[in-house]
Amino acid sequence: MNDKVLESYIKAGKIASDARNRSRDLVKPGKSLLEIAENIENFIRDSGGAVAFPINISLNNIGAHYTPVKDEILIIKDTDIVKIDIGVHVDGYIGDTAYTGFFDERYRELCDASRLALEAALELCRPGVKLSKISLVIEDTIKSLGFKPVSNLTGHGLERYNLHAEPQIPNVKFSGEYVIKEDQVLALEPFATDGMGMIKESDQVMIFMLIGKKPVRNSDARTVINFAKRFGGLPFSERWIPLDSRIKIRFALRELREKGILYDYPVLKEAGGGMISQFEHTVIVRDEPIITTL
Ligand code: MN
Ligand code: MN
Repeated sequence: MNDKVLESYIKAGKIASDARNRSRDLVKPGKSLLEIAENIENFIRDSGGAVAFPINISLNNIGAHYTPVKDEILIIKDTDIVKIDIGVHVDGYIGDTAYTGFFDERYRELCDASRLALEAALELCRPGVKLSKISLVIEDTIKSLGFKPVSNLTGHGLERYNLHAEPQIPNVKFSGEYVIKEDQVLALEPFATDGMGMIKESDQVMIFMLIGKKPVRNSDARTVINFAKRFGGLPFSERWIPLDSRIKIRFALRELREKGILYDYPVLKEAGGGMISQFEHTVIVRDEPIITTL
């Protein structure tokens, strides 16, 4: 990786880290999800970064992909556990980081499980290490605290304008010979739960990505396509779409999904209704791993 690329990864990681730290003061009982999302996304833009994906604010049994809508009504309660997942890019080079906030002590151990799993896994991000070793340490750490890793949510590689590059990094043990290499950029994200250890897709969708090109007649749908093009293949939020009514937006999105022009990210919920915790960092594989989002 050349100096310019490294510099962009470091800058994106620093802004993501600052945004995450800033969110800790905002994520409190009584705060609205919409207010948190707008504050953090504006902070990222004001800091010289671009938002790599809509901030995910996933409560309780939701594992990922919840982001507020324009008329969002959800308010944080003191019994919630709150996963904040933030993505920033600089010139397409991404920093991806997450943590879990809680207000009730009964969730401390669940949150420790994914946090400690992440810490142990980051230690292994050195050239020549087998990917399977990283997954094994994540599973073992989470289980040692009495919880289950979420088996169908994974960490991932990062490449320019590609949020989910190879390799997938399972949070459960697997057998495979894949070895990580110097300068690979990885996002490690252990998820722990007291439920079944699996997520399933729900009917709710708030995050989309442009994947195809086809002519459309409906002018609102064309507005959405032209808007979506500016993200360079990265995901965007329904909330950001510049149309004045939510009904128009939903109608346009439905047409684009049906035509295969948009990919959607459904809200993911724990299959057994369990609570989920998540921690995530972005790391550059080196003999001394560089955690860009620390
Ligand atoms: Mn993330
Ligand atoms: Mn990620």
